[in-house]
Amino acid sequence: MSKKIILSGLIQQDFEKIAQDLKASKFRARQIHNWIYLKSVKSIDEMTDLSKDFREKLSEIAQVSDVTVKTKQVSEDGTIKYLIGYPDGNCVETVLMRFDNRTNLTACVSSQVGCAINCSFCATGKRGFVRNLTAAEIVEQVLTIQRDTGLKVTNVVFMGQGEPLLNLDNVLQSLTIFNEDFQIGARRITISTSGIIPGINKLAELEMQSTLALSLHAPVSEVRKQIIPVESKYPLAELKEALKNYTNKTGRRITIEYLLIKDLTDTIEMAESTAIFLKDIKCNVNLIPYNPIKDSKFKKPSTSSIMKFKYILEHSGKKVTIRLERGADIDAACGQLTGKVNS
Ligand code: SF4
Repeated sequence: MSKKIILSGLIQQDFEKIAQDLKASKFRARQIHNWIYLKSVKSIDEMTDLSKDFREKLSEIAQVSDVTVKTKQVSEDGTIKYLIGYPDGNCVETVLMRFDNRTNLTACVSSQVGCAINCSFCATGKRGFVRNLTAAEIVEQVLTIQRDTGLKVTNVVFMGQGEPLLNLDNVLQSLTIFNEDFQIGARRITISTSGIIPGINKLAELEMQSTLALSLHAPVSEVRKQIIPVESKYPLAELKEALKNYTNKTGRRITIEYLLIKDLTDTIEMAESTAIFLKDIKCNVNLIPYNPIKDSKFKKPSTSSIMKFKYILEHSGKKVTIRLERGADIDAACGQLTGKVNS
């Protein structure tokens, strides 16, 4: 028996081709599309405005999804972490974050299995790189959340496992699907990078309207190298030029992610150097107090060092937020994803 078509991750033209092959109209294609992306059904049987006969024909050649939810963990704060398994046996983690008093539902998606960047604070980096995810596999993560919760995801952040700009074509293809098929506005989508300059230049060329987030984590090359080894390949001085070019071309403000690690990146000197580094870059800053992972040499910053750091950056004219810790009790917080069963 030949392999069935997986409907999740397809675009309207693909649905039209399927409808045409089954001798049905474009309208049927639009109905299937809406059942997949707007109603997040689990099976073709649930597509109740299609005739039983058509559903049977469609089921012979296609199925909604081929992923499995290996585990699901719910945090005390409502964050949900899924371990999703693909047919080749690889798994990634996807996190749904909810924030009190806000209606936003944010999916934090993975773009690769494992990661080659090997940031020293990150559980994923310790695994090394396994493979890129396809656009459909990225899209499946958001559909899995929607199918499971019955809720509609309103925001997507590419901040899960992997370096999105090292899988740029598939990430951009999934971004288009989120935008056009899920109807999630471009500005509600964020792509995060450790600082891959060719990828940043490509996004600048495309005049991307989604948000770019850069993991800066240290404004001094020698310190940054200890945290993000890719600093040796794409050093801060060149990165700064790429970021300026990006904001000029897109007109968009960058989000600077800054990890506060006790006595390494949370000092007053680092805050002052960060303010100088960011002086000519149109950006907001998001401070992330470090979450300890198993066997880590790094420590959590104190509340007073977080507040001092924030004050210095605000004083330099930047808008600064402190990232709320989500799902730390289920290892779903920043840098804690591993994508392994039993990790
Ligand atoms: S923080 Fe991101 S880029 Fe760095 S190793 Fe982890 S997954 Fe890769």
